[in-house]
Amino acid sequence: MAPDFSKYTDGLMPVIIQDVLTLEVLMLGFMNEEAFAKTQAEGKVTFFSRSKQRLWTKGETSNNFLLVKEILVDCDNDTVLIKAEPQGPTCHTGDISCFGEANDQFSLQQLEKVIIDRKNNPSEKSYTASLFAKGINKIAQKVGEEAVEIVIESKDDNKELFLGEAADLMFHYLVLLQAKGFSLADVLQVLETRHKK
Ligand code: AMP
Ligand code: ZN
Ligand code: ZN
Ligand code: ZN
Repeated sequence: MAPDFSKYTDGLMPVIIQDVLTLEVLMLGFMNEEAFAKTQAEGKVTFFSRSKQRLWTKGETSNNFLLVKEILVDCDNDTVLIKAEPQGPTCHTGDISCFGEANDQFSLQQLEKVIIDRKNNPSEKSYTASLFAKGINKIAQKVGEEAVEIVIESKDDNKELFLGEAADLMFHYLVLLQAKGFSLADVLQVLETRHKK
């Protein structure tokens, strides 16, 4: 489906930008036909700025570009949804999203982003960075330990201890995926193919 720009007298189509990983809504902007074509051609979100009255590639000065991953058009071709990978905060205030912190739902994908950041920018204070420094074997061993701990807590009915071990296991599992060069999305892909069977 292609967006129908003739539906708007000013030729400006509302475009919702969503983080492809966290599914967080990042911003709303407008595109004319030219901005949409440029966005498709270059794989970076370009709007028509109503205040600047010109094409505006998000990130052109901040470098916080929005890399296009998927473009969807709604049921009657008058709204576009773009799933994108933001290269930095999308809002000019420095917030991740123009809708602020309240929209910032904690998710495994968000936790994974923090883990990736610790892997790429290690600091001495970070426990996660210290895990990456120890290497894959140690991390895998840690997942094994946490798995044993949740087994032990399963036998009791201490809610706090059980949930604590469940969280430990999930965290170390995400770290192991990253240490192996994989992500949650890769695992979800495998689960999805099974789900479809
Ligand atoms: P940028 O496209 O990130 O290089 O920002 C360039 C200029 O566009 C900024 O100085 C702001 O005036 C404006 N701007 C940036 N991000 C947004 C946004 N999410 N919503 C509205 N205006 C923005
Ligand atoms: Zn519509
Ligand atoms: Zn904003
Ligand atoms: Zn534990």
